[in-house]
Amino acid sequence: MVSDGLGASGLVDTIQYILSPREAYAAEQQWRVVKRSVDARQRELKVHLTVLTDEQGHPIAKDAPIPLYAPPVFQDVHDAKRQVVIIGAGPAGLFAALTLIEHGIKPIIYERGKEVSERKKDIALLNRNEGLNPESNYCFGEGGAGTFSDGKLFSRSKKRGNMQRVMELFHYFGAPDTVLYEAHAHIGSDKLPSIIKRMRECILEHGGEIHFETCVTSLKEVRGERLEVRGTPIILAIGHSAHDTYRMLAAEGVKLETKGFAMGVRAEHPQALINKLMYHLDKGERDQLIKLVGNASYSLVTQVEGRGVYSFCMCPGGHIVPAGSTADGCVVNGMSASHRNSPYANSGMVVQINPEDIPGDDPLRGLEYQEELERLALTHGKAPNIAPAQRMKDFVDGKASKDLPACSYLPGIVPSRLDQWLPAHIGKRLQQGFRDFDRKYPGFLTNEAVILGVESRSSSAVRIIRDQETLQSISTPGLYPCGEGAGYAGGITSSALDGINAALKIAALA
Ligand SMILES: Cc1cc2nc3c(=O)[nH]c(=O)nc-3n(C[C@H](O)[C@H](O)[C@H](O)COP(=O)(O)OP(=O)(O)OC[C@H]3O[C@@H](n4cnc5c(N)ncnc54)[C@H](O)[C@@H]3O)c2cc1C
Repeated sequence: MVSDGLGASGLVDTIQYILSPREAYAAEQQWRVVKRSVDARQRELKVHLTVLTDEQGHPIAKDAPIPLYAPPVFQDVHDAKRQVVIIGAGPAGLFAALTLIEHGIKPIIYERGKEVSERKKDIALLNRNEGLNPESNYCFGEGGAGTFSDGKLFSRSKKRGNMQRVMELFHYFGAPDTVLYEAHAHIGSDKLPSIIKRMRECILEHGGEIHFETCVTSLKEVRGERLEVRGTPIILAIGHSAHDTYRMLAAEGVKLETKGFAMGVRAEHPQALINKLMYHLDKGERDQLIKLVGNASYSLVTQVEGRGVYSFCMCPGGHIVPAGSTADGCVVNGMSASHRNSPYANSGMVVQINPEDIPGDDPLRGLEYQEELERLALTHGKAPNIAPAQRMKDFVDGKASKDLPACSYLPGIVPSRLDQWLPAHIGKRLQQGFRDFDRKYPGFLTNEAVILGVESRSSSAVRIIRDQETLQSISTPGLYPCGEGAGYAGGITSSALDGINAALKIAALA
């Protein structure tokens, strides 16, 4: 019997098993499994199951209730003396707001996009290629970039704080039990909007404020109110796509620096092919495993000429989506619904870019570099959002694709010579990267797969420099840059945790 650190949830007594897919499937029908991961490193696949036990160490039955964590206690902050302004209602902003309310502090959130149900309508238009709303899209709006995503909640690092608390809050607002124990939990783009809506309702009910369709264009003033006069702390949780806001911050003297990021393409294979490559099993066992853990994913990494080339944000059974926030570029990303059951498997395939790779010393030069590549992709696709695409093997062999395979990307794709127009330091490295990945998983490099341009927003190209201890901007006291846009987090969970940490710092000031 082992205790595996789930104590915060009260899940203390557990036992671990390493089983074949068939045995694991049988075990899951009987027992209360609290953690599951698949070890695909060996040719013989193994499933690691952690099962909840009673005091005698016997596995607990499947339908026994899961012992829960202490639920959050939100205070009434309608008339709270302390207030905090939050810019951005993504995971960082929302989790910061919830934490402030737990500490009796009133959050006032400004969000440039719309509330989630209105945002859905703009996303539907975007997918039908009927126009991009620059303020309401896959990046901007309630819930931030994470709302219409795969909702992978991966980061379980204990280094930066209480990640289990992030999972518990997601669970409290409606995420499935699996987020409490799965090593690679995910929620899905169909479920996330209602979770985000419940968070908003909780914030409003307890006296917080949320102002949608309010883009903050100066740190000095919002909606005619002077922020500096209010003297309230400001949590800056803008995500990494608000290039105009970064430019405003630079103009207002907030200290920024260029940071390393990554750019490339999004690749899509038939999911059935990825299942075959990743699950080295006969068909019967493979189907059994898929029933248990779902469609296969992958995580690939190699080094080419001193730079990392790697897969990013892999979405099994997912869709490629138009993820730009301006009409002058073509940007793609990926997502999947909770069942992950589309016939496609997509993933970002990106090349690491270091600050020294971009000439100059302007802290915003990384943004300009991203925008340049996005404009290039637009000129090779078809405005507004038809993405340039090439079959994967044709890309590696330097050949035009005469036609393209079926693809999940709804606005449409058009054949293009990505091998010719991608900057060589990205294109050549990707070509070698695909060859390397094919050596690891023979069959990965295939013309059944297609690549789309460009995946340019995988991470922030800017850091808003903050003091490690106080978490305040080193140039602008009272400003708390946090989340992905600040350059200190990446992904939903670490951004949410960064928001919590910023709120805790403010709460501790007293
Ligand atoms: C399609 C897609 C799929 C993804 N899939 C995953 C995944 O499966 N797992 C994962 O971990 N991560 C995923 N990500 C990344 C993840 O969404 C981000 O890492 C995360 O949302 C960052 O959180 P954040 O709160 O820091 O910023 P964001 O979520 O970007 O939120 C920032 C918010 O600030 C608002 N804002 C910006 N500027 C202003 C301003 N001036 N005034 C007012 N409001 C402003 C924006 O409108 C936005 O709502 C995905 C991203 C995309 C686009």
